[in-house]
Amino acid sequence: MTNHTGAYIAFNNFDYKSICTWPDRTILIPNRDDVYNETLNEFFPRGFYFEIYSKNPDSYFLSPTVPTLEESEKLGYKMLLIYSNCPNHEFERRKYTSNSGFCKHCGLFSLNPFPLRFKCSICSIATEYCKNDDNVYFCEKHRENNISYDNEVFLNNKRYSKRVNIRMLRENIDKKYFCNIENMFELKFEYNLY
Ligand SMILES: [Zn+2]
Ligand SMILES: [Zn+2]
Repeated sequence: MTNHTGAYIAFNNFDYKSICTWPDRTILIPNRDDVYNETLNEFFPRGFYFEIYSKNPDSYFLSPTVPTLEESEKLGYKMLLIYSNCPNHEFERRKYTSNSGFCKHCGLFSLNPFPLRFKCSICSIATEYCKNDDNVYFCEKHRENNISYDNEVFLNNKRYSKRVNIRMLRENIDKKYFCNIENMFELKFEYNLY
């Protein structure tokens, strides 16, 4: 899996085959967007979209929700081209308080264009990994020093999501709602995709 070329399709519950020439090490996750009809008490597909994790530019974004996966992939690929052709990204935080932001010209979402604003209270490296109830921060290495209710929940969720994702990838079971950016990082490290 480390040497795959073009797009790697993760959680491929639709048995979808990519039709665009993506740069190597792009990850695509096909998703169906369902709407709930209260009267009929049923879910109906509204369309399809992809979660896209691109390496160059380093970004995570969603392709538009449209009637077919093929159409959505093409639109997602167009977005990547717009991002790639932006001559000079200039980032702004918009609603984000962390170090993430968007390019004000092409809209590219980047996870870390800004420096982290907080430091681990133990080793002083810049981190926003987790904090206690008094807003004291801890890095990943020192996360066990964080004694707070929220952190217990957070660590549990992280452990859970990692286990779930590894199992899903191995067994290819339908758990599309577990796909999110945090899981992409788990995938990235677990399978050395980057
Ligand atoms: Zn840009
Ligand atoms: Zn630390």
